[in-house]
Amino acid sequence: MKIAVAGFQHETNSFVAGHADFDAFQAPGGWPRFSRGNAVLDTLPDSAAPMSGALRVARAHGCRIEPLLWCIALPSGPVDDSAFERIAGDIESGFAKLVAAGALDGLYLDLHGAMVTSRHPDAEGELLRRLRQIAPDPFPIVCSLDPHANVSRAMVDHATLLDAYRTYPHVDMAETGGRAMEQLVAMIASGARPQKLFRPIPFLVPLDTQCTLTDPMRSLADLRHDLARTEGVDSISQCFGFPLADISDTGPSLILYGENRDGLAQAADRLESAWLESEHAFGRALPTAKDAIADALARLETDPTGPVVIADTQDNPGGGGTGDTAGMLRALLEANASGAVLVHIAQPDAARAAHEAGTGQSLDISLGGQLTPEYGAPVSGPFRVGALGDGRFVGVGPMYHGNQIDLGPVALLEKNGVLVIVASRKMQASEPALLHHLGLDPARLPILVVKSSVHFRGAYQDMADAVIPALAPGPVTARLDTLGYRHAIRRVAGAATENEHA
Ligand SMILES: [Zn+2]
Repeated sequence: MKIAVAGFQHETNSFVAGHADFDAFQAPGGWPRFSRGNAVLDTLPDSAAPMSGALRVARAHGCRIEPLLWCIALPSGPVDDSAFERIAGDIESGFAKLVAAGALDGLYLDLHGAMVTSRHPDAEGELLRRLRQIAPDPFPIVCSLDPHANVSRAMVDHATLLDAYRTYPHVDMAETGGRAMEQLVAMIASGARPQKLFRPIPFLVPLDTQCTLTDPMRSLADLRHDLARTEGVDSISQCFGFPLADISDTGPSLILYGENRDGLAQAADRLESAWLESEHAFGRALPTAKDAIADALARLETDPTGPVVIADTQDNPGGGGTGDTAGMLRALLEANASGAVLVHIAQPDAARAAHEAGTGQSLDISLGGQLTPEYGAPVSGPFRVGALGDGRFVGVGPMYHGNQIDLGPVALLEKNGVLVIVASRKMQASEPALLHHLGLDPARLPILVVKSSVHFRGAYQDMADAVIPALAPGPVTARLDTLGYRHAIRRVAGAATENEHA
């Protein structure tokens, strides 16, 4: 069995400045580098990426693997059309050559599902449309997706099967790649192709209530699991959607596959009803940074062990945040939250200055607020340099486990007892290895503030006394009703219910 594989991932936030150019795909923080051809087989198997699991399964089945390329860029504004054409073009031409040479049995794609370019709001739909032209049905094309995918009709039509991670935090990426590959191998062996059912959900869900560790999503995840056991239903994915992409396809969806058409429809009806019943619970309000820190300090008075983990969700680099807003740092200083640690502000000149000054020295710098001053001014020094590191370490948390991470020079700074990690690159704060790298044990901190919406829970939920997502000013807005969508057509979760009472 001969199977071509490729990966091309981006999550696009339409509401932040900047674009992802070709360079952004070269060495993204926390992920493997751009790799082509056989380099994919060398670098990806040791990572947490879906491709890793897919390769493992393909090898276990004795498949001959034809690697095209694999790349990812950190979430940001739209992908440049030139970068999209260059990368998509390489996948297309490599695939076309293999198809023309004959004896290619299938294609596996490691996609995100929420990529937008200026010309193609549904970039994955466009990529799949082109690949399908090269290899018409019934040639099997199977994709793993991030559940933040804004799934389109074109994606469903042109792929034989789409299969999304079940979890958020995403702790099953490699598992999903492996499952997608198992299904591809089974399709090739049997020659059968499943029926499809695509059901968009009519409202948008903010990131912080999409978490599968908490209700209502936890119950929906359990229900999906139960329904997937229905006779003749092979696969059910529920995508939460990426609500910060302003395209007509933005929003959650259900995608079901199998031979039993009635079974698919009944399972979709059950799951859709449960989503609709949960609508209001998805729209909960979050406290301000000041209130969240006051809450944390009050909890620590009765139980001083900690940590209380506060999520700076509106500057989550995993949602397109810059990783450099200073609102949480300012609020910690104003509250005299001594011993609290903020992870992390991405500011290369601050990290460099700390390395030049050396441990124990004082630094007179302005920290944060450099890239997006509209979300608050920098915090002025002096800061004391507490620890230094080269920013290279291996992921140990459930999400980035095994990934070679390179954040460039990093430093631990202190001001009035409040600690802040600075790094040369941004990355979602879901990896405890960064704290270990600077001599910190997250379990022993009173307050840990993370620039993350949900992924941090994978590493910290179990050790935390409490988890408080909170609002400091930032670009990854949790209040979807304030965004002013121009293209997204679905309502914000809870909006209809509120209007009914207005
Ligand atoms: Zn995601």
